[in-house]
Amino acid sequence: MASPLWLASDVVVGASRPVVVMAGPCAVESYAQTRAVAAEMARLGLRVLRGGAFKPRTSPDSFQGLGVEGLQILRAVADEFGLLVITEALGVEHVPLVAEYADIIQIGSRNMQHYPLLWAAGETDKPVLLKRGFMSTVREWLLAAEHIARRGNERIMLCERGIRTFETATRNTLDANAIALVKQEAPWPVIGDPSHATGRADLVLPAALAAVAAGADGLLVEVHPNPPEALSDGPQSLRVEDLAGLVEAVARVGAAVGREGAARRGVSPPGGNIDKLSPSAYTLARTAR
Ligand code: PEP
Ligand code: MN
Repeated sequence: MASPLWLASDVVVGASRPVVVMAGPCAVESYAQTRAVAAEMARLGLRVLRGGAFKPRTSPDSFQGLGVEGLQILRAVADEFGLLVITEALGVEHVPLVAEYADIIQIGSRNMQHYPLLWAAGETDKPVLLKRGFMSTVREWLLAAEHIARRGNERIMLCERGIRTFETATRNTLDANAIALVKQEAPWPVIGDPSHATGRADLVLPAALAAVAAGADGLLVEVHPNPPEALSDGPQSLRVEDLAGLVEAVARVGAAVGREGAARRGVSPPGGNIDKLSPSAYTLARTAR
């Protein structure tokens, strides 16, 4: 089982800690839009604000993100509410910039095997959330994580965000098997992304609960103050007022699968910021090479 990972001195993910719900808009569109989500997160005790400043869009005609201005908005809003920022570095050249503004670097699904990007993230001291490529096997995903770790950064979270299957009724297919499997095989916490896995706001809650039941240590959830008007991923975005129900249901399912409440009461790391990760459980990644 993965050792817990301290994202900050009072934010811990992994082992049997309560599920860390990271939330925010797909894309940062404005200060007001981002702040509306963050204010509700703070009210609910959530600590990690997501939002894309550099967006990997299928069409070059789609909104590509606000760039540096988006990073500035994320930082300002997060600081107002005492939140951490997770945002995507789309290219190697973004890594220093993202590391300057954000607390956690996200590597997107389309970039899972962009090795120079993995190396660059591995040379930072920031936690890295590595999304599974939507056409990648578990083995490829774990070996991609290994590329980050080999550069000296073991502060990794693996994120299952749905894979492409024959099914077209949903945007992707949540691979709950993979969540359970990497929990056994990898030394890193596992995050579920029910938003990209389903592509439908009405399926986000059940997919989130399935991810938690399968062992996810955290969730990455898209939330927008006005989903029909969202510039990116509106159909899969929860409304701000939906977030409280999700957080409550996730806590209940988390408790049912043995997650304790210690972190909610404020647990501090034993003598340091980061637990030493045990190299013992690399079976799949390290024997499959
Ligand atoms: C995102 O989280 O906004 C995103 C682009 O996700 P993915 O890389 O999983 O498509
Ligand atoms: Mn999105």
